[in-house]
Amino acid sequence: MAYKITDKCISCGTCAGACPVSCISKGDDKFKIDPEVCIECGTCAGVCPVEAPVKDDENND
Ligand code: SF4
Ligand code: SF4
Repeated sequence: MAYKITDKCISCGTCAGACPVSCISKGDDKFKIDPEVCIECGTCAGVCPVEAPVKDDENND
């Protein structure tokens, strides 16, 4: 299980700098999380201004 970034992302980059394991990077149209590295700490969700990162454990696209 990991966090994922939804289409709400405005590519501000704040989460990438805050992630303790540096698993967030810039994608084509939004930032993305490497699920193999994410430790599900929730920091990205806490710092995101638009609540784009969500726990990837439901149908929450
Ligand atoms: Fe990084 Fe934590 Fe967000 Fe996973 S939940 S992407 S480890 S900040
Ligand atoms: Fe996207 Fe939120 Fe990360 Fe900014 S903090 S890059 S809006 S997911």
